[in-house]
Amino acid sequence: MTIKNLFHLAILAGATGLAACGDAGPAETAPKAPVNIIPMPARLTEQADSFRLDKQTVLVAVAEADKQAAALFNEYFKSLSGYELKMQDSGARNAIIFKSMPASEKGLPETYHLKVSADQVTVSGDDAAGTFYGMQTLIQLLPVQKAQAFWLPGVDIFDQPRFAYRGLHLDVGRHMFPVEFIKKYIDLMAMHKLNTFHWHLTEDQGWRIEIKKYPKLQEVASRRKESMVGHYNDQQFDGKPYGGFYTQEQIREVVKYAESRHVTVLPEIEMPGHSLAALAAYPELGCTGGPYEVGTKWGVLDDVYCAGNDSVYMFLQDVLDEVMMLFPGKYIHIGGDESPKVRWEKCPKCQQRIKELGLKDEHALQSYFIQRMEKYLNSKGRQIIGWDEILEGGLAPNATVMSWRGTEGGIAAAKQHHDVIMTPGNYVYFDHYQSQGKNEPVAIGGFTPVSEVYAYEPVPQELSKEESQYIKGAQANVWTEYIKNSEHVEYMVYPRAIALAEVLWSPAEKKNYDNFLDRLKTHLPRLEMKGVNYAKHVFEVRGQVESDQKGGVQVKLDSKLDGGVITYTTDSTAPTAQSTRYSGPVAVQQTGAIRAAVFQGDKQYGNEFQQAFTLHKAVGKNVTLAKPPHQSYNPGSAFALVNGIAGVKEFNDNQWSGFNGSNFEAVVDLGIDSVEITEIAIGTLGNPDQWIYLPKEVDFLLSADGKNFKSADKLKEIDVKQKGIRKLSVRPEKAKARYVKIIARNAGTIPKGAAGEGNPAWLFVDEIYVK
Ligand SMILES: [Zn+2]
Repeated sequence: MTIKNLFHLAILAGATGLAACGDAGPAETAPKAPVNIIPMPARLTEQADSFRLDKQTVLVAVAEADKQAAALFNEYFKSLSGYELKMQDSGARNAIIFKSMPASEKGLPETYHLKVSADQVTVSGDDAAGTFYGMQTLIQLLPVQKAQAFWLPGVDIFDQPRFAYRGLHLDVGRHMFPVEFIKKYIDLMAMHKLNTFHWHLTEDQGWRIEIKKYPKLQEVASRRKESMVGHYNDQQFDGKPYGGFYTQEQIREVVKYAESRHVTVLPEIEMPGHSLAALAAYPELGCTGGPYEVGTKWGVLDDVYCAGNDSVYMFLQDVLDEVMMLFPGKYIHIGGDESPKVRWEKCPKCQQRIKELGLKDEHALQSYFIQRMEKYLNSKGRQIIGWDEILEGGLAPNATVMSWRGTEGGIAAAKQHHDVIMTPGNYVYFDHYQSQGKNEPVAIGGFTPVSEVYAYEPVPQELSKEESQYIKGAQANVWTEYIKNSEHVEYMVYPRAIALAEVLWSPAEKKNYDNFLDRLKTHLPRLEMKGVNYAKHVFEVRGQVESDQKGGVQVKLDSKLDGGVITYTTDSTAPTAQSTRYSGPVAVQQTGAIRAAVFQGDKQYGNEFQQAFTLHKAVGKNVTLAKPPHQSYNPGSAFALVNGIAGVKEFNDNQWSGFNGSNFEAVVDLGIDSVEITEIAIGTLGNPDQWIYLPKEVDFLLSADGKNFKSADKLKEIDVKQKGIRKLSVRPEKAKARYVKIIARNAGTIPKGAAGEGNPAWLFVDEIYVK
């Protein structure tokens, strides 16, 4: 028997609890264990030596923070081995030594050096956080299996973060989660070297932080009579009261727990918008005086704090006084986003304030509001963070900006030399869909798979080197309108948060998605051990529908699963391990569905890929658009308009081309002359609550040469407020042509009284049909 096999036997015996002690014989040498660290360290060198970790190994730490790190290591170790290691003040042989530089010597923040050699492991942090992160890396050197003794692979790691701010947010206003879960959330963050927990504590739909001076925040503002269910468009409610809040004692407990894991808790108290719950408790703080009800539907609501009433500022200062007692961090988030101005426009007090101060408009009034609160917090030694709307009407002098509506806000703030945290929706909104599988739980919209998060680069190209210094980091946001329980939070956040962690921690030049996935495979069992309900899409089969360049459509399938076998069907039956094996692009030859899955043996991995096609004469043909779709709703190519695929009403499937305020104009070249045409149509979407309107008119034109077009028919006076997917079609008589032109006219400006009033309407088109 080889030595290696002997070792495996020891592991097996350990796993079943049979081995008395993992004492190694002198002849035993170490197996070469793979090193898979996430996030990828800045510098890593593998060494020939290995360190044997068993009952004789001791943990050495002297400083209090180092003892804490050692204790957390021990706790994890015990979950694998069933026993704890001895902790000592000194020792050098067969020891794991945790040692931070004293604060007086001022090392680099969060930096550590981890060395594993044959008789010693040293975890040396430039500060206590560095030692803590070294400890987290050390944990990842342990195999994820229960045993009595382990070999740690020899390494020399020097590591430090690329960004100082590495955040994860959680909205507890729409739905709240138990304190035990909040701690687990923080624990998982720390495991991935994320360091700021943004706790979104107040919302229209619920106030979740106990404020002793204002008991009605607990009695009234923390409860709503019911909640919206299903997708926003459906406008349905569950009729069930919902409520709760975190007591100050619980908050202290969470802050302390986070501190021991080097996570700063950033509290957010929303103002002046998203404040309906507080107004329901204290109606005198609103412009109309109420009565108000705690919000039951999601979205942006009109009632906000009155900016012309000094008692509003007094109230918020009192609230912030208690908040500052609970949260020792330097920053307080004061919201500032999505605050409609309709009440302020009609409120005598707000208008009086604008006059008195000689302000330009209501945006300047919001700026005054934020600056006044900033001044107060600055006077107490704190700094504010706000969403990017705080740029409007003039930025508060010391504010940090969280750029969420894309990157523009972040760019503008950095150019004004303000600190910026990037949180753009397209990349780091974890309330978005992460799979196009048909069985995904309802989400707010969007499509942000792990690969998209991983591809995110927080520093916008538009910034100079000097300006990019103001980008302090990034954060993923987890809004919980559609996320009701802890398991669902985990499903939305993991493994996407791990991709974000690598974006924020590792050097940009070390990013490599395939390599990340390899390491992720080894890492995911650690999440399983902690009982994390992570999403398993990352290895599932993906399909890409593309033009075959010959006037047809084909589907390419792939999966990141090692050794996985992809099979598919074209007869709408569910694929099994025995179905047709995928060997290259599958041509779409008929109306119907292609279904595919990836298997390891007989076991299917992740969701199925399923795509229905409707074949018609424009499918796979050349399309040119007069104007490209808006970047937020752009499927990437005009081919999406003739791929035979209809979009879904949740518009999260990357099939919809969106035009913001502008018309849709397209020409299809059918490829051959004198094609007989009996029907022409476009698929459109109506969803006024989300600013999407049908076109008011559609022109259908035909041409033989692509230059001279003649009208085939026209649709006029379309009811633009219709809801759902609408196929707008005409049936020209005895028509023949090679080119088809369609012009759909945008509904224009959103009318008064409707959601998004005054903004340009969206026009959505998913497919051009020619029959
Ligand atoms: Zn007012």
